[in-house]
Amino acid sequence: MVRVGGAPAVSAPEAVLRGIAPDGGLYAPERFPRFSLRDIVSLSKIGYAERASRVISPFFEELGEGVILPLCEGAYSRFDSSGPAPVKYIGGGDYAMELFHGPTLAFKDLALSLLPGLLAASAERLGEKSESLVLVATSGDTGKAALSGFSGVDGTRCVVFYPEGGVSEAQRLQMVTQAGGNVHVVAVRGDFDAAQRGVKRIFADGSIRDKVASGGRALTSANSINLGRLIPQIAYYLSAYADMVASGAVRAGEDLSFCVPTGNFGNILAAYYAMRMGLPVGRLICASNRNDVLTDFISTGVYDANRELRKTDSPSMDIIVSSNLERLLFESSGRDGGEISGFMESLRARGEFRVGGEVLADIKRLFWGASVGDAAARGEIAMRYRDSRYLPDPHTAVALRALRDYRAETGDESPCVAAATASPFKFGRAVASALLPNADGDDFALCAMLSDFTGIPVPPQIAALPESPIIHRASCLPEGMEGALIDILDAAAE
Ligand SMILES: *Cc1c(COP(=O)(O)O)cnc(C)c1O
Repeated sequence: MVRVGGAPAVSAPEAVLRGIAPDGGLYAPERFPRFSLRDIVSLSKIGYAERASRVISPFFEELGEGVILPLCEGAYSRFDSSGPAPVKYIGGGDYAMELFHGPTLAFKDLALSLLPGLLAASAERLGEKSESLVLVATSGDTGKAALSGFSGVDGTRCVVFYPEGGVSEAQRLQMVTQAGGNVHVVAVRGDFDAAQRGVKRIFADGSIRDKVASGGRALTSANSINLGRLIPQIAYYLSAYADMVASGAVRAGEDLSFCVPTGNFGNILAAYYAMRMGLPVGRLICASNRNDVLTDFISTGVYDANRELRKTDSPSMDIIVSSNLERLLFESSGRDGGEISGFMESLRARGEFRVGGEVLADIKRLFWGASVGDAAARGEIAMRYRDSRYLPDPHTAVALRALRDYRAETGDESPCVAAATASPFKFGRAVASALLPNADGDDFALCAMLSDFTGIPVPPQIAALPESPIIHRASCLPEGMEGALIDILDAAAE
């Protein structure tokens, strides 16, 4: 592993344990393991846990396949009978890679089912005795997936901060009803960016670090700033390609495009990393909702965060500062850590930075950006259901609409795999308003109506929510996140 800025390189287990470099920079892989076309295509012959292990293990040479494979088997046995990443044809050359068949019904499960085991194995490898204190800022789905992954895991404690009023009702209830003595949830009276800034501030705060260390704990992150989140996500892009070759949808060696509904730029960066490992990639379509800072960046090279966050039907993408873009720029600039530090410094000081020349040209050759509003996304849900009986959630609908726009503008009709990132029943209200405009009721009544209308059962994790006791009631202002964390640690020490 290397550090994006200039700080010293650390091992992969150390990068996972720390989450973020002491000075706030992000770790990036030191090199990308190379997979031959044969290595990739042969993944179709084995189950998902083994596929994931083959992809992840070379990044963690210090742990090895003997450690990683059993962790993957444990993590991916918690998915439903569809498996972790099935690819389905949905018409017009479009495919949906469904990443929402895990315990919390969003793609975050693909990484967060595995991260607790990776952390524990990394701690053991390094002889680290401290409890891992895992901090999470969530735009909705990471929080529940982290709570579910870490609940009851020895040697860990997990604290999730979510923006009050910034998540769907199902997302909120999924979090505040999570059982487990080592997991905690705090509502922040602000938006996701405020919560993410607060977590980064806590990481950089020496006095909190000391307090945490004196309690026998070490801070880490379960956000996609942690490489332990990103590396497991690479696996499903290679897996999808292998499945597409096996089904005859693409020829071995033919380029395949991917379309990814994007917020923090983690999922689409994993696709880019897969390409660097040898995956034949055509274009990467970066789909945003009305928070369109990435779309503007791809078209102009200016990343301008000086804009108001808008609440949309796809709250997990309501983000203005997409942390993982830093890692793409690191690669595109030829690993010029100094240049990246300059961009990040400019972002902190002026709320913007600007790339140009070869770096921008390089990004534009691969990435195509589009921004999709709520009305267009709802229209897309209705169209996909009408045309192919496919029911996307609002995030997936943003991607599918962006893909439609991409095809119209470029004339590219080659196969494209869109990441389907959440179950539609996590966002019953928005999905129902697309399909059943006259329906009325709370989110759960709307899910029941949707289920009646489509014949798709409401997932049991959602159906159980209205009856589940609320366990977590803490809330704070963005500037009170440090205090909220200390309260939790003091209570846990009693
Ligand atoms: C987190 C999330 C996204 C955005 O993924 P990033 O890795 O943050 O770009 C998209 N859709 C859903 C449903 C999510 O939970």
